[in-house]
Amino acid sequence: MTLADLSEGEKGIITKVRGRGAFRKRIIEMGFIRGKDVEVIKKAPLRDPIEYHIMGYNVSLRKSEAALIDVVSFHETESPAENPALYNKPGRGRGMRQQRFRRNLNRGIIDEENEKHFHNTGRRIAGIRHHAYHGVLPHNHLKKTAEAKGRIINVALVGNPNSGKTTLFNYASGSRERVGNYSGVTVGAKVARFSQDGYIFNIVDLPGTYSITAYTPEELFVRNYIQKNTPDVVINILDASNLERNMYLTTQLIDMDIRVVAALNMYDEMEKNRDQFDYEYLGKMIGIPFVPTVSSRGKGIQDLFSKVIEVYEDRDDTVRHIHINYGHDIERAVKTIQDSILIPDNLSLTDKISSRFLALKLLERDRESENKIFQNCKNYRDIFKIQRAEISKLETHLGEDTETLITDAKYGFISGALKETYKPSEREPGSLSERIDNVLTHRILGFPIFLLFMWLTFELTFTVGQYPMNWIDSLIGHMSAFLSTHMSAGILKDLIVDGAIAGVGGVIIFLPNILILFFMISLMEDTGYMARAAFIVDKLMHKIGLHGKSFIPLIMGFGCNVPAVMATRTLESRNDRLLTMLIIPFMSCSARLPVYVLLITAFFAKSAGTILFGIYLTGALVAVISAKLMKNTLFRESDIPFVMELPPYRWPRLRATSKHMWEKGVEYLKKIAGIVLVASILIWALGAFPKETDYSRNYDSAISTVTSEYKSRINTLGPSDTAAKNLLKKRMDEEVSALELEKEGERLEKSYIGRMGHAIEPVMRPLGFDWKMSVSIITGLAAKEVVVGTMGVLYSGEHDPESGTSSLIRNIKAQVYTDGPNRGSPVFTPLVAATFILFILLYFPCVGVIAAIRRESGSWKWAMFAAFYTTAVAWVVSFIVYNTVRIFLM
Ligand code: GDP
Ligand code: MG
Repeated sequence: MTLADLSEGEKGIITKVRGRGAFRKRIIEMGFIRGKDVEVIKKAPLRDPIEYHIMGYNVSLRKSEAALIDVVSFHETESPAENPALYNKPGRGRGMRQQRFRRNLNRGIIDEENEKHFHNTGRRIAGIRHHAYHGVLPHNHLKKTAEAKGRIINVALVGNPNSGKTTLFNYASGSRERVGNYSGVTVGAKVARFSQDGYIFNIVDLPGTYSITAYTPEELFVRNYIQKNTPDVVINILDASNLERNMYLTTQLIDMDIRVVAALNMYDEMEKNRDQFDYEYLGKMIGIPFVPTVSSRGKGIQDLFSKVIEVYEDRDDTVRHIHINYGHDIERAVKTIQDSILIPDNLSLTDKISSRFLALKLLERDRESENKIFQNCKNYRDIFKIQRAEISKLETHLGEDTETLITDAKYGFISGALKETYKPSEREPGSLSERIDNVLTHRILGFPIFLLFMWLTFELTFTVGQYPMNWIDSLIGHMSAFLSTHMSAGILKDLIVDGAIAGVGGVIIFLPNILILFFMISLMEDTGYMARAAFIVDKLMHKIGLHGKSFIPLIMGFGCNVPAVMATRTLESRNDRLLTMLIIPFMSCSARLPVYVLLITAFFAKSAGTILFGIYLTGALVAVISAKLMKNTLFRESDIPFVMELPPYRWPRLRATSKHMWEKGVEYLKKIAGIVLVASILIWALGAFPKETDYSRNYDSAISTVTSEYKSRINTLGPSDTAAKNLLKKRMDEEVSALELEKEGERLEKSYIGRMGHAIEPVMRPLGFDWKMSVSIITGLAAKEVVVGTMGVLYSGEHDPESGTSSLIRNIKAQVYTDGPNRGSPVFTPLVAATFILFILLYFPCVGVIAAIRRESGSWKWAMFAAFYTTAVAWVVSFIVYNTVRIFLM
């Protein structure tokens, strides 16, 4: 009897909550716990939801939810026979049949007749009792009934053929024969009942299957059985001598989100082979407890069912629902389909069957799941449309049918799980993939190989990126020169040339570099190397309190921190997620690249690639130290192990990799078109106003004095002294432009942005930064791309005919302090440039990232923490580096 069967005003006691994990969790959290009283408050014949009273308050449940909660009502009562372990008082059960039933039960057998009797007894006695108590049963009787009913555990045995299911079934139930038959369509399953430790087990021996994907009747039968009958616990029997293949079925059970206990059968074979297998650790990783068994000799079977009891009673802390990671393409498709299924109308389906499972099955074009959708979902047309679209998208991009893709990902999960836990005594030569793995994930070689790949990535980013960079540079130069000469002078021209083009142009020029970086990251992901990289660094990551799985979001951070923060969702523990999120800002995103490239080209051009690599490494190092620090202070907690998928190696497909590169590139472009453009114009405006400046001296008259002085000197020379004339002319130009630069400098300094820069300059001076750098740091809060744009505006002389990077580099190098103690000395030295790079690398990531951290962590607290922590670290590190080098090396 279920909660949905109770009528209005009727009371009952909960005996069991069925359904898949996520559903049970939700319902149990609402207070629907075994043994609790529940009363129906309101229930109209067609009314859904139904209102219940439980634990002192009223809750409404949908009918489909209530149908998954088993209860005993006051019209039912306990049957002493139902649980002999609880009700062993002699003479309580009456009649011949009853006695035979109990005898059989104690032997651990129940036949079909007994099965019927089993159900009838309770009802018959209930009828009698009902009279005896005038329809009102004492509460404690009901309580006992509920308790007894709650101690019946329905268990299904699933596993590959010849894994030892039937042997286990027979041993557990103490029978040598087929004791009952569960009638399926063409295939059958045996059922039996026995008791252990005060619990009654209804076990069913389902047909052996390798999978529950394909369309064989056995596979379908197993799946339907699990979905229809919602067994409390599924025992997955694994042949320990053939784990890789056997665990394929396990991955499907994981997708179904049901409670599973794994029987590691044929454990004797494993011991004989001297294989090493840390099954406990594997269990922790996949959230399924493992119990070694030798069912042919009955070993471990009692332990197995003890474990089942623990799991049933939610006492086992190994059990948790994990998501197998299918890689971002499939995961995105799953998410899209899942969203179309997860609408309120379809809840009665998704309470029973996980929407993730359905989405995966739809991607595999699974007939049975399509039928389920068709029968249960009103919006099936939309769902099928999305299904078809997602399948064709995946198949064209990845060049493989979705079923293969999902299967590959499952085997990737298995080999990742086994690689960490399973060491077979002898290894057969192995597949190509394995042999490649042996080198790439080698204990000693793995790490240098990984570093080599990373270095190569940055080197390529720089060297190959140089060519298109020059083209874009000259294009922008031409464009702004063209506009300079063809537009009439005025504020609009200034806005476009000095604001928009200087700002956006200064950023867009790095687009090729950024695309190359994205391409390399995508390439490493798509070939499967990134997963190996995560594997290699896993041990290292554990040392800093993280997990290899955190590694991929961190690497993604090199592209853009925002998607990286979002990628932490794949981590299961909240602490891991938070910790990873908080250190992602130290992974130097591509928006910071322009600053590095600019300053490296200006000051360290000779060893550009290596320096760039060093910058990224420094960021990673700060991340590591921060992680270690936070792990020891903020996030002290034991780790939950995860599986790191090892997907098979794939030849990169240009199409897929380019698409992934482009997806990331589009985000970048969007940012340029939006934030960067607006910020550039704003910064320009802040620098251009107020228009009237009180200059400290009259530059214009100084310029005309200089000009007239030189002119008169030139005029005194004879017509044959061309060399001397040219020399004088050149000097004149130099002096004039120095004066003009000085004038422009003073004007900017007295503009709004100059005042802002001056305001924070005292804080930045100990790091060797001038007010223009200070301004650039402020504008970088919006987006790091803006930094170079700001520098482009601030460091450009007004009379510069072009405003490309090459001129910016010239200007930066030519900058001298116009006042103060350093007057006349250059603003940028290699040390200042390096310190500035460090500061840009480490401080406040950008508004977007802080917003993302706020979203993903669910609180402003962590977002603010990230903002302050990164900035403080940047300042302290820059201070130490700048002053140490200055004092000791100069
Ligand atoms: P099923 O197809 O999963 O039902 O597998 P069976 O129960 O029919 O068992 C297949 C074979 O494996 C039988 O010959 C069993 O005797 C044998 N077997 C079952 N369990 C074990 C075990 O734990 N160790 C060993 N060595 N053999 C076993
Ligand atoms: Mg069998």
